[in-house]
Amino acid sequence: MGKQNLSMTGYYDLLMQDVRFREGLTACMNCGVCTAICPAAEFYKYDPRQICNLVQTRDDNKIEELLKSDTIWYCGQCMSCKTRCPRGNVPALIISVLRKVSQELGYFTQSEKGRQQFAIKRTVGDNIINTGYCVHVDHVNPKLHPEQGPVWKWYVENAEEVADRLGANYNKEGGGALRKISQKNLDEVKKIFDVTGGSELYGDIEKFSKEVADKFKMSFEKEGINNEYFFHTYIENSNNHQK
Ligand code: SF4
Ligand code: SF4
Repeated sequence: MGKQNLSMTGYYDLLMQDVRFREGLTACMNCGVCTAICPAAEFYKYDPRQICNLVQTRDDNKIEELLKSDTIWYCGQCMSCKTRCPRGNVPALIISVLRKVSQELGYFTQSEKGRQQFAIKRTVGDNIINTGYCVHVDHVNPKLHPEQGPVWKWYVENAEEVADRLGANYNKEGGGALRKISQKNLDEVKKIFDVTGGSELYGDIEKFSKEVADKFKMSFEKEGINNEYFFHTYIENSNNHQK
């Protein structure tokens, strides 16, 4: 989807340019089976049936509201809805495309859960590019994860010894769990991001997040997590998401 098209078309047409949207929505009959099976709907103010119904109205105002809302960020992409819809729709794919468009247009910065995309990009997202791992013991900071308890701090401090005991290949060349990923393979990962549009999307998240950080008068570094805006998006919680 070329960015030059973003301002020249309605939101529904924009969504339809993505094959996942075309595959994910044929005709929703509003039965609510997806909502009944959806684990996110059990806890959050979230209803995939409503999302499917809303986008198929093709009402641009309502779709814009959705793109700027917390709603599209509650889905856990578990794909349970895919297996149950009697019409063969895939609400999860519709939501994926809504998220992508929200990031491209910068609308994600207008909701709390949307702004958290910056924290995910600067942690898991950058980990993939820099280390080849989404989650790796060296990059799960115990201070950022108190929910892991004191055991995690101990594990991080003794990672090499624990990894050896478990037969892992911690940060060494060759095969096995926790091995060092070669530069050649990291270059390939980066290339995949470049050709699939992932790098461009990362750039959008950075660009629009920087604008908000400036508006909030918070420090914003080009990389890493040592800046006010990162911690703001990491801990911001209105507690207004659950049912
Ligand atoms: S993929 Fe998302 S919408 Fe579908 S069941 Fe899972 S959490 Fe719900
Ligand atoms: S299960 Fe399918 S048809 Fe029923 S509300 Fe969900 S998307 Fe629509």
